[in-house]
Amino acid sequence: MALPTLIDPRKLANQGIVLEGQFHVKHLPRLAAAVTDIETPLSALVKFGIDESRAKVASGTLSVSVLAQCQRCLNPVTVALSTDFAAQIIWSEDQLVNVPSDREPWIVVDKMASLNELLEDEILLALPLVNYHEDGMCTGDTFLSEDGRSNKEKDDEIVADNPFNILQQLKK
Ligand SMILES: [Zn+2]
Repeated sequence: MALPTLIDPRKLANQGIVLEGQFHVKHLPRLAAAVTDIETPLSALVKFGIDESRAKVASGTLSVSVLAQCQRCLNPVTVALSTDFAAQIIWSEDQLVNVPSDREPWIVVDKMASLNELLEDEILLALPLVNYHEDGMCTGDTFLSEDGRSNKEKDDEIVADNPFNILQQLKK
């Protein structure tokens, strides 16, 4: 089932609504720009409610499968992203102090808010900065050199040779 893009989150919280469904790739433009391709719709379960301090909250789980570039072999690699999130609906930045550290502030200045943008923010936070194939699945692993070491081990060596890293080691 397709999730609604525009919602009234405070009303949903007052009613204790649970939304379950999916967002099509076309509603995830920033995620699309951040990866090679989006392989599946974004699936989400979002529970709206009111906590014991009368704050309006939305929490749930989301998952999506994307295609990114493996930074070892430069071929596409499928990355299954999934994350839990918890957000507290507030009117303005003045209320940021009311949001506990285990929740994201969700500033909703009008009645209506964009659910796909919120979920896209959450999945972008879950997206690793660099992606690799699993060990043994990467063609970058097969190019073993004469001494039998993989490219990855050599990469590690390059990192160790970086003058800044050596400086770091000297400081210790
Ligand atoms: Zn690879």
